[in-house]
Amino acid sequence: MAVPIAGIRRPALDPSPLSAPFWAAAARGELAIQACTGCSKMHHPPVPVCPDCHGTAFDFAVVAGTGAIYECSVMRQARVVGFEAMVPYACVVVELDEQPGLLVVGNLLGAPVEAARVGSAVRVHFEPYGQGDLQLPQFVLVAGAKAR
Ligand SMILES: [Zn+2]
Repeated sequence: MAVPIAGIRRPALDPSPLSAPFWAAAARGELAIQACTGCSKMHHPPVPVCPDCHGTAFDFAVVAGTGAIYECSVMRQARVVGFEAMVPYACVVVELDEQPGLLVVGNLLGAPVEAARVGSAVRVHFEPYGQGDLQLPQFVLVAGAKAR
C-alpha cells in the first residue's frame, strides 16, 4: 500500500508494538526515544532486550530533537519509492544531544544538499505523512549554529 503526500506516494507506515510509542509521539510533534528502565540507556530503533543490561522493561523519553549530523548521503537518483520528487536530497544520520551514539535517520529538509555536512547542528522537524495523523521525523539545520 502506498500513501499519497502532495502527489508523492510513499510506502505505508505500519508501526510495530515496539515502535508504536515512537510513532504516537511523532504524531503529537514529539521525538520520543526508548529508554531502558534498568540502566537508563536510550536505544533507537527500539529493541526488545537492552543490549547494555539485558533488561526488558522500557519507557519512552521525549527528547529535545537536537543533535548533529553524524553522517550523510546525497541521493541523486530516484531509487527509493516515495522520495522520487525530492531528488536530489540528503539522507542524514543524526547523533542526538542526549547520548553519544544515539542515532536517528531522516532527511535534511529546507536546505540545499551541499549544506548537509558532518557536524552541522540540526533539529527535528515533523513532516505530515499523509496517513492518518502520522508524522515523519525529519531534520532541518539550526540557523547560526556552529558545527561540532
Ligand atoms: Zn538497560
